[in-house]
Amino acid sequence: MAVDFIAERDLQRCLNLLRRQGEVHAPLRDTDGMVRFGPLPTGVLPDLTAVRTLLPPKKYLLHPRETILFYQAGSGYQLPSGDVPRLILFGLHPCDLAGINYLDQVFLGNEPDPLYAARRAALTLIGTSCAPDQFCSCHLRPSPLTASCDLFLQQIGGGFVVSCGSSRGVELLETVTELIQERELTPPADTRSFFGQQLPPPPRSELDPALPDWQNLAEQCLGCGACSICCPTCCCFDVLESGGLDGSSAERWRRWDNCLFKSHAQVAGGASFQKDRTQRFRYRYRHKYRGFGQLKRLPSCVGCGRCRAVCPAGLDLRPLAERLEGCAP
Ligand code: SF4
Ligand code: SF4
Repeated sequence: MAVDFIAERDLQRCLNLLRRQGEVHAPLRDTDGMVRFGPLPTGVLPDLTAVRTLLPPKKYLLHPRETILFYQAGSGYQLPSGDVPRLILFGLHPCDLAGINYLDQVFLGNEPDPLYAARRAALTLIGTSCAPDQFCSCHLRPSPLTASCDLFLQQIGGGFVVSCGSSRGVELLETVTELIQERELTPPADTRSFFGQQLPPPPRSELDPALPDWQNLAEQCLGCGACSICCPTCCCFDVLESGGLDGSSAERWRRWDNCLFKSHAQVAGGASFQKDRTQRFRYRYRHKYRGFGQLKRLPSCVGCGRCRAVCPAGLDLRPLAERLEGCAP
């Protein structure tokens, strides 16, 4: 079949042309050996062999700590500036694209979050294909989320098969048109197909809070929260307020929170909805694989494998899910 193709040797030129449309950020291997999304310096190629970055791209949409409202006597309440630079995220794998799709549903729903909406509108998403490793589960449990993006580059020997996913993608393709070759070839299996599947049938049973697995798993869990920090869909935050000493100014800010932390479910008076680690562990499981609130029955696990790769206790929920629900997450 005839496809649009960009040769690997033209990737640097392709990135230079894309830079005219915004700053390019991509996966880069640091001196500590970890791969992180960051600004791509001119003349440097992204690491397209890494299976996953340390943090997912949610860091571009939800900052770890940020002010969401200012107050100043005389001028009242003000939202932070909505000026956001245009960014091109290059090298997003299908699971991270599905993760952004999930965050869109949370933050662009009935009442869009203004900070998220401004940043999301300034982002161009360019996906690349990958191959699952031992930590990934995208291929074991297809997700109802979609892995949509503006442009997608399917890696194949010697280059990339290019496809558009939006009108923005069509514009971008025109930007790099001098590099596009028409080739007759059959692209390899597209791992985006693991996403956008029909919802699985409801599990056979409700998850029994008395199951011994919760206790066993929670006893091994250190409560460090690493699995949540690195998850592309974990987006709980805490809201705090602080006032100036003169009493005429104040700010409200939010910071990433973590359902594995004891403080997460604490409310006024010291009461807690998730008193012990077993409850917190079970809560996380249910949220990842069962959804809640408006997104009930929409699993938020996109199978990126980060939680399994970073867990210092080596915890893996797949065997438990297999046994409870008859399928692997
Ligand atoms: S639960 Fe684990 S595998 Fe699933 S999306 Fe989050 S970090 Fe990735
Ligand atoms: S990374 Fe592992 S040890 Fe840390 S909170 Fe998550 S499950 Fe527990």
